[in-house]
Amino acid sequence: MALLETTDLHVRFELFEGMSHVLNGVNLKVERGERVAVVGESGCGKSLTARAVLGLLRHTNAQIDGSVRFDGSELLSLSERGWRSIRGRRIGMIFQDPTAALNPTFTVGDQLFKVIIRGGRARTKRRAREIAREALRHTAIADPDRVLNAYPFQLSGGLAQRVLITMALVNEPELVLADEPGSALDVTVQEQTLRLMRALGDELGAAVLIITHNLGVVREFAQRVYVMYAGSIVEEADVDTLFHAPRHPYTRALLEAVPRLTGEMLPQPIEGVVPDYTAAPVGCRFHPRCPHAQPACQEPPPVVDLGGGHRVACVLPEAAP
Ligand code: SF4
Repeated sequence: MALLETTDLHVRFELFEGMSHVLNGVNLKVERGERVAVVGESGCGKSLTARAVLGLLRHTNAQIDGSVRFDGSELLSLSERGWRSIRGRRIGMIFQDPTAALNPTFTVGDQLFKVIIRGGRARTKRRAREIAREALRHTAIADPDRVLNAYPFQLSGGLAQRVLITMALVNEPELVLADEPGSALDVTVQEQTLRLMRALGDELGAAVLIITHNLGVVREFAQRVYVMYAGSIVEEADVDTLFHAPRHPYTRALLEAVPRLTGEMLPQPIEGVVPDYTAAPVGCRFHPRCPHAQPACQEPPPVVDLGGGHRVACVLPEAAP
């Protein structure tokens, strides 16, 4: 049984312009201890998938269908109380902008102690402080007391990011969900964030699901990758296969859009834009941008299993790169 599994996950919003059908049957799995990435352009539904998995769409007008199972239990029907026993305890979260993710009116310590006490690792603030100190030292913070007594605005972006990683991991979750971690910060801090997440995740045996638009992050961090386009998974593979033998025209276009340091080829931007979800293309949602589109693409494409965990949703799965 996978640690996390979404099956045929749909999310729709009723808007003034009409029904916006954003997630269109997302199927993905994360096994225990595995590092998995979901990659795609901005607006393709990655962050919405993370929010649906974390139960953060519950108090919105989102209509959600399908299934999200964590360790065999259905999350979509979980009560608020049930969520409290999972979010922050069994599933940790890291968001894009660390300074915005921390509450500016409380010290770092107050916020971290609350996470530790809620997670059941300590009953008293004193014990929570001991655990927090130890956990901050573990993320290479040399002076944990200074950080615990500080307000978020007194921390640099890199330090705030390390605090957030500490918060996500302090209760030793089985899964960490990281949405564009550190992408609001500079490249060096982003690299440090990834290295730290990887080291701590490995140490705890936690699985990590990382959401990113950055193929460099995927290559650096993930073992397995899902490529998402317009609310659907279009290709799934281990990281080497994805980079060396991509099959879906969208995956290939994404790879061709990455500048190469050797300068041997100019990056080719992907023509067109992600569709308007109130009037998404029928059949394969990529067909208005696909150079190989044909009449059969007006129907939902089959998901073809190419073996070795490589799957592609396209009528031309064997097309040469
Ligand atoms: Fe292109 Fe058709 Fe494949 Fe979609 S199904 S990616 S339109 S060839």
